[in-house]
Amino acid sequence: MELWVTEYQTPALGFSCKASETLRVKQTAFQHLAVVVTEQFGKMLLLDGMVQTTEKDEFVYHEMITMIALNAHPAPENVLIIGGGDGGALREVVRHPGVSRGTLVEIDEEVAQASRDFFPNHSCSFNDPKARLIIADGIQFIKDNRNAFDVVIVDSTEPVGPARALFTAPFYESVYQALKDDGMLVVQSESPFFNEDVIKMAYSGINEFFPITKLYLAAIPTYPSGLWSFTVGSKYYDPEKPVFTGELDFKYYTPEIHQAAFELPAFVKKIITEGV
Ligand code: SAM
Repeated sequence: MELWVTEYQTPALGFSCKASETLRVKQTAFQHLAVVVTEQFGKMLLLDGMVQTTEKDEFVYHEMITMIALNAHPAPENVLIIGGGDGGALREVVRHPGVSRGTLVEIDEEVAQASRDFFPNHSCSFNDPKARLIIADGIQFIKDNRNAFDVVIVDSTEPVGPARALFTAPFYESVYQALKDDGMLVVQSESPFFNEDVIKMAYSGINEFFPITKLYLAAIPTYPSGLWSFTVGSKYYDPEKPVFTGELDFKYYTPEIHQAAFELPAFVKKIITEGV
């Protein structure tokens, strides 16, 4: 008998992968967690039935959620990630030569544990001397910090459950306060095809506090619709302009992709202009 795992991306659309094995299924204190082995994308982590990361395509998301801000900020020394308990974004942050400390605040310890058990290429970051892993609610953590970080990255689940408040204006105001005077915020803001409302909420919330707000895109096959958005809020530097000139080995990111990612299709431009 064949085993298939399906994420219902909308009430009318399922994304299915043939799976060979189920490695973990459990209800944590915060969400339903599953790790399965798929034939197409290797190991896959799902939370509440939604794909979070896979071995084969994770590089796109993790390079693009981190490197735009890290390469546009001339001195991204102190970086905070909220969510991202699989460790993939932290891996990218700590390998950047400009970074001296990468702090990851994840609410659900079981996500970090699943990553340690099944995703060594993500969780290798937990052992890096620059890395600090804190199990806590990112919303409270950000309120307790002022003028502390150069870059804040919100690598959250969809805006349901514990991640809901991570898409609201009061949270973006707390991030603004937690950033230094020239700091930058990046959030994953979902699919322009299926999540217009999320993009509008994130973009207009960030735009309320940050003088520079921009949206950029990347192609991620296992995320709904395959076209994914990120929203960046910057206090000072232009996020579109890469200033880092060193050598790093990337699989998706290039300085040309950095700038091209901000070129938006007309329907995406419309979403953000209507949202503010
Ligand atoms: N790349 C993924 C995506 O876009 O689908 C997100 C990956 S990461 C696994 C998301 C993490 O955010 C989850 O592990 C979840 O527990 C965490 N999270 C959700 N709400 C949070 C909060 N308030 N504070 C800290 N972490 C949170």
